[in-house]
Amino acid sequence: MLPQFFDSVVSLVVKTSTDLPPDVRAAMKVAMGQEDSATQSGQALAIIAENIDLAADGEGAICQDTGMPTFEVHVPIGANQVEMRRQIRDAVSEATRRGKLRPNSVDSITGENSGTNLGPGTPIIHFDQWERDDIEVKLILKGGGCENMNAQYSVPVELANLGRADRNLEGVRKCILHAVWNAQGKGCAPGAVGVCIGGDRTSGYVHAKEQLFRTLDDVNPDPRLAELEASIMGEINKLGIGTMGFGGRVSLIGCKIGVQNRLPASFFVSVAYDCWAFRRLGVVLDAKTGAITQWLYRDPASPVIAMADQAGFQRTGREVALQAPLTEAQVRSLKVGDVVLVSGPVFTGRDQVHAYLMKHDPPVDMRGSVLYHCGPVVAKDGDSWRVTAAGPTTSIREEPYQADVIKRYGVRAVIGKGGMGAKTLAALKEAGAVYLNGIGGAAQFYARTITGVEGVSLLEFGTPEAMWHLTVKDFPAIVTMDAHGNSLHKEIEQESAKALAALGV
Ligand code: SF4
Repeated sequence: MLPQFFDSVVSLVVKTSTDLPPDVRAAMKVAMGQEDSATQSGQALAIIAENIDLAADGEGAICQDTGMPTFEVHVPIGANQVEMRRQIRDAVSEATRRGKLRPNSVDSITGENSGTNLGPGTPIIHFDQWERDDIEVKLILKGGGCENMNAQYSVPVELANLGRADRNLEGVRKCILHAVWNAQGKGCAPGAVGVCIGGDRTSGYVHAKEQLFRTLDDVNPDPRLAELEASIMGEINKLGIGTMGFGGRVSLIGCKIGVQNRLPASFFVSVAYDCWAFRRLGVVLDAKTGAITQWLYRDPASPVIAMADQAGFQRTGREVALQAPLTEAQVRSLKVGDVVLVSGPVFTGRDQVHAYLMKHDPPVDMRGSVLYHCGPVVAKDGDSWRVTAAGPTTSIREEPYQADVIKRYGVRAVIGKGGMGAKTLAALKEAGAVYLNGIGGAAQFYARTITGVEGVSLLEFGTPEAMWHLTVKDFPAIVTMDAHGNSLHKEIEQESAKALAALGV
């Protein structure tokens, strides 16, 4: 049955992972136009733009975190959903085998990676019947960094910097502002939010995520919600969060709000935060063959516009070249705001590596090392490995471990995104180390700075969680926490909190 269904879904998965939809590209172009290219946000946007083009041109994953594949499928009455579910799962496994999706499905108790993106609850597939005689398959790939920034409020609620949010649209507005402020750069701003007013705790989150299937430039048919969406977009960009939380004019590229009925006793506001790597596409299929008859969100008549301008990422001449391994004197000379270009050996390490290092000696000598919070997509070429996508992951998850790892093993630089907390900041000062913020999601751009994969340790944790021994050349990042107790993240959070308080009045 449906001889072309499997191939159609593989094409959908590959295209979604590698080619950002036109409405998101257009919104990011507007963002680029609003930031001064010489600022940190401007430079970050230039890298993001280059990354988007590289991903589409080379059919590589836009971001190494290819997220939780979530399918929304509409089928004609009588269609065989059991077979379609099987084929969608096979297509996800095939796209993973081809390196277009990172193996992202892990056993929640043991942490073991299935290696295929298949497992209990993954991928997520929702079916609905409709009275049309074709099939529609929509897909969103939403990564962990932004998923962790989702928020659900049970109103009335007291919100930091905003005061009380009541059970009305003004209260909803405050909840959305709070969620975006709280995300700062951790969800790879500028992002977009899908919001559900009402429902229960479960349906609220589902409906919020469904809002992300709307195009960024549509207008809500409910005039009350259209007005709220527009006012949020106007207000949020006054917070000064900017790209990756570096400070800047654009913090949000979309706000889409839906509403569901609720129980009289409940009033939930659910916010699904998506990052700039807003990967969502869809196809319409012939119900007899499964062949693609139409792509959704894309107009084949309109050519895809290139994101990067001719210049791409521009060096200002003020960048500091850092050759690893690093000395204490080198890192103590750096200060918040410096743009660095890292070259030399770099070790990756994220959640499982950090937990391991709390109980075991490191598998490599980490004195003077650069530790990269990254779960890359890797492919095996014969006996060697090739990294095909390698952007930074959210660092705050390692906060419980990072200070000990730095002090025990002599790490001199940590690369990640979104910044870290007070304990790490104190350790940087005490031990003489820095935190370097990479550009979240710029997986293709950073993969091209990797000149060699010298080895791998702890591969039993799965490829994203293993410790990869990489050599990099001119890897750009920004010092956002230095060895003198300064943190750009703290500064932006405090400044944006003041702006938020002004909006709450
Ligand atoms: S762009 Fe950032 S938040 Fe989005 S999936 Fe990639 S790492 Fe996660």
